[in-house]
Amino acid sequence: MAGVTLESVYKVYDGNVTAVEDFNLEIIDGEFLVLVGPSGCGKSTTLRMIAGLEEITKGTVKIADRVVNDVPPKDRDIAMVFQNYALYPHMTVYDNMAFGLKLRRFKKDEIDKRVKDAAEILGLTDYLQRRPKALSGGQRQRVAVGRAIVRQPSAFLFDEPLSNLDAKMRVQMRVEISLLHTNLKTTMIYVTHDQVEAMTMGDRIVVMKDGIIQQAADPVTLYDQPANKFVAGFIGTPPMNFFEGKVTNDAGMVFAGDGFSVNVPEQHRAGLEAHVGRETTLGVRPEDIVTAEGGADPVKSTVTAKLEVIEPMGSETYWYLAVGISSFIARVDSHVRAKVGDEVTLALDLEKAHYFDVETEEKIV
Ligand code: ADP
Repeated sequence: MAGVTLESVYKVYDGNVTAVEDFNLEIIDGEFLVLVGPSGCGKSTTLRMIAGLEEITKGTVKIADRVVNDVPPKDRDIAMVFQNYALYPHMTVYDNMAFGLKLRRFKKDEIDKRVKDAAEILGLTDYLQRRPKALSGGQRQRVAVGRAIVRQPSAFLFDEPLSNLDAKMRVQMRVEISLLHTNLKTTMIYVTHDQVEAMTMGDRIVVMKDGIIQQAADPVTLYDQPANKFVAGFIGTPPMNFFEGKVTNDAGMVFAGDGFSVNVPEQHRAGLEAHVGRETTLGVRPEDIVTAEGGADPVKSTVTAKLEVIEPMGSETYWYLAVGISSFIARVDSHVRAKVGDEVTLALDLEKAHYFDVETEEKIV
């Protein structure tokens, strides 16, 4: 087992495409680390530099305290699982898993033991003599994982391993890979564009955009304390709502948007002082917006909006709403009765709100 460290790592492709910029991260031994971000943000490039499949333009990559910049992939003691499985179609499941060990001239008994142990862990024992085409997508993915396990590497690298599976199988494999990590306790570095996968699997998540780390934190911290507007909008479904408006000193402190105005709670006022009079973005998660039960609103935190779309999800209902120039989503109790076109009053839980600088998009409070 081993930790992996990246120090000021850059990747510049031909034609001056900076895919990864000043990447600094210490992945501790045994950690399940997820790299997440939209397509093209540099996740795969980062993983491939750790694997040795991509040259490092500048900086240092260490595996178990050894600088590996010039170490070929096969000597890095890591195993990678790809999106397309990359199984040999003419070989049985057994031979697919054994192949890498044969190349490394492992003894036959040792190969047999490792393949059978891996098959047991992955529920593939009954399929060892089949060829890949006689397996389901999920089983093929398990073989690809099995091929990595038999190597007993000091770290596993996963590059979008579940993208080719249907939604149900993806959820199942997600759980299996998490269990595998619990059992093996080996360092795992996992790349995905899917924030739900990232949130459910990672001990720690690194959110990337345009080749740059936006935030690295555990799932709950990312959700509760996003460092900037990008992370706030990327993590969570439905995504966080953003309202544009101005902070003013009326009635203590107020956030005034187009068609609404709400009181800023005491706890956020000091932090927002420097932004009074300036355009600011208010962020409120859909679950922090509830239907107002009428009555007085002494600390004003309500917004009256037009209900445009209703999406029943079963356990709850998503309301798509509009007020002035803002559109937003609320997650409401599925028993609340309303119809499209209604004017509805909603209460925002502003104690949980976030404020972002319009220009830098960094979090203010
Ligand atoms: P992700 O995995 O987050 O989708 P990648 O790491 O694959 O992103 O790509 C990051 C950026 O580098 C993208 O802009 C992509 O177009 C560019 N890129 C990737 N591979 C190459 C390459 N071989 N040559 C030039 N540009 C590349």
